[in-house]
Parts: sequence; structure tokens; C-alpha cells
Amino acid sequence: MTKAPVGILGATGMVGQRFIQLLESHPWFEITWLAASERSAGRTYADAANWKLATPLPANIASLIVSGAAPAQCTSPPPRMIFAALDSHAAAEIEPAYVAAGCIVISNSSALRMNPHVPLLIPEVNPDHLALLNQQASRTLNGGYIITNPNCSATGLAISLAPLHRAFGVERVFVATMQAVSGAGYPGVASLDILGNVIPFIAGEEEKLETEIQKMLGSMRDGEIEPAPITVSAHCNRVPVEDGHTESVSIKLSTPATKEDVIAAWQAFRGGSRHLHLPSAPAQPIIYTELPDRPQPRLDIYAGRGMSTVIGRLRPCNLFDWKFTVLSHNTIRGAAGAAILNAELLKAKGLLA
Ligand code: NAP
Repeated sequence: MTKAPVGILGATGMVGQRFIQLLESHPWFEITWLAASERSAGRTYADAANWKLATPLPANIASLIVSGAAPAQCTSPPPRMIFAALDSHAAAEIEPAYVAAGCIVISNSSALRMNPHVPLLIPEVNPDHLALLNQQASRTLNGGYIITNPNCSATGLAISLAPLHRAFGVERVFVATMQAVSGAGYPGVASLDILGNVIPFIAGEEEKLETEIQKMLGSMRDGEIEPAPITVSAHCNRVPVEDGHTESVSIKLSTPATKEDVIAAWQAFRGGSRHLHLPSAPAQPIIYTELPDRPQPRLDIYAGRGMSTVIGRLRPCNLFDWKFTVLSHNTIRGAAGAAILNAELLKAKGLLA
């Protein structure tokens, strides 16, 4: 099969690097174009990026010349499909410009996530939300459109809640996150601030968790999303962990469920797009562990090649019904891997034509 050419906006950052790593031997997509800020434009990728991943920078990528990010600054024409991993302020201006130029933008940033016409997509959870693309006028004008993936902490939380919401209804959620430093990008949080420390504030993060869940778990009604009636209260903390966001979660259900019911719902969950056999989809989106002191980032973060959400410590909650721990890889399941899976869903649904 001929691979579809893809570009990466924000290719030099933490998420951009994950895209390069995950796409190196992708069966459907091939990187042909990279872009970043003016700081990087015109340099080879090897020169512009401070490569931070444990696998070597692919040689064919190292020698690519990085383009400027805005369409007007492009030194080479962008491909039609673009993965975007831009700082959200830059994304708010640059992503719509690519859509206006007829590109398909698959975004990681928060800039357009809550736009009512933009799918906030997890293929296992809400593939039907792709119907929102019919609301994007550019799609009929020039074929350009945008989809987004959720905030990195909202991803693991949404996946853990989706089967429970479907089976029993989720009414209230309390979540306290312990988020890895890679979630802040590179160079991110200064080492003197985070080593041996916990920072109980991540700008904008609690608001994202408290709004994205309702959109993702919402239902399509007359071409629009009716948000799920779930109240979420979030506390977000930055902790000195390299990769992997851990979340302590308490939930109130609409109908009673036993411990066995909850675990069975998680273990049976395969998601709404399993029949499409997408290359990046994990065999098990949720892995439940009975081990008393798991999940842990160091031990469990690469479950399902970083695409599975690992859940453990299910026990009764004195305030609500149940409490448990969720772990999700922030730059794979929460960012680049999520966006690649979304692109695979687009291809499988014939939406890249
Ligand atoms: P990062 O390491 O700071 O990388 C930011 C990227 O954006 C770099 O390529 C940078 O290029 C580029 N950029 C910054 N300002 C720009 C501008 N004004 N014009 C054009 N390009 C610009 O951040 P990251 O962690 O990869 O995150 C990227 C996006 O993904 C953010 O919106 C973030 O919220 C989202 N996200 C991150 C994670 C995570 O775990 N890290 C998870 C989910 C979503 P230069 O190198 O040339 O400056």
C-alpha cells in the first residue's frame, strides 16, 4: 500500500518527537514535512530539535529542513494531512489557517477542543462524534477540516469512565491528578522547581478536565453533542515523574454496581471502533490490575505500547460509590498516539479522501 504523506506542526517539541517516533514504521502514514517556530525554521530537524526520546532519531527525519509554522512561512508545500502539536496560543491562529488552506488538521492543542463543531475524539469512546465534521463549512468548500484529541489527563479519565457511564451512568467525579513533567513540554518545568517537590497547580488543567469529559461522553442529537450530565471536580498536581499521568478517582453512579460489575465493564470494554482493526489501537483499551500497589508509572506506563489505560485499586468510597487509580501515558495515549489513532479512524472511515 502507498503510504499517505503527513506533516507535523510543532515537530520539535515533546509531542512532536513522539509523533516522529511512533510514525517511524507506521503502515499507513509517512512523514514528509515538519514545521515549528521561527527559532527552528530553515534548520535541519537534527539541528533544531533537542531529541529527548530513548530511541534514535530516524536518519531520514534528521536531515529534513524544518519549515516555518504559518502557511505563509512554509518553505515547502505542506501535505494535506497534518498532525499538530503546537503551543496552544500558536495553534489558535495557525490551525484554522491550514483548515482554510484545505488541510486536514489532527490537533493536540486545547485551542479548538471545545468548539461545538470540532470532534473531541477517542476512537474507542465516541467515534460517532465524527458526524460533527458535517458542521465544518470548510469541508464542503475546500475539503479542509479539524479534529482534536483530549487533554492528556482527560484521556485516561474518559476511557476509564466510558464503559461505566454506558452501563451504570456516572453522575459525579472527583479526580486528583499526579502529572508527569513531560506533560509540560520541553524544557517545561525548571528542575529546581520540581525535583523532590509537588506543584499543586497546572494552569488551565482543572478547567479542561471539568469540561472535556462531558463533551466526550456526550450523545449526538440532531447533529450536535448533548453533553453528558456529569459533574467533575479536579485537583491537578505536577510531580517529579518523567512520563505518565496517575489519577486518583472517586465516582458516584446513577444505578448501583458491585465491584465485580465495575471490573467486568472495564474488562469487556473494546470500544466502538474495534472492528476496524486500527494499527495503533491497543488489544485492550483498559487493563485492570488486582495488584495492591499498582498501577505505577515506572512499571505500567508502556502497557499496550503506551496506548492502554491501566486501572487498579478499585474499592468502596466513603463519599461516593467507588474509588480507583488510573494511569495513562501522557505523550502517547494522551497526545501523539491518540492523534495517530484518530487519523487511522479517519482513514478507515474514508474521510481522508
Ligand atoms: P513543547 O515541547 O513546548 O513544543 C511546542 C512546539 O510548538 C515546538 O515544536 C515549538 O517549536 C512550537 N511552537 C511554540 N511556539 C510557536 C509559535 N509561536 N509558532 C510556531 N510554533 C511554535 O510542547 P508539547 O508538550 O510538545 O505540547 C504541544 C501541544 O500538545 C500543546 O498544545 C500541549 O498542550 C499539547 N499536549 C501536550 C501533551 C504532553 O504530554 N506534553 C499532551 C497532550 C497535549 P520550537 O521548538 O521551534 O520553539
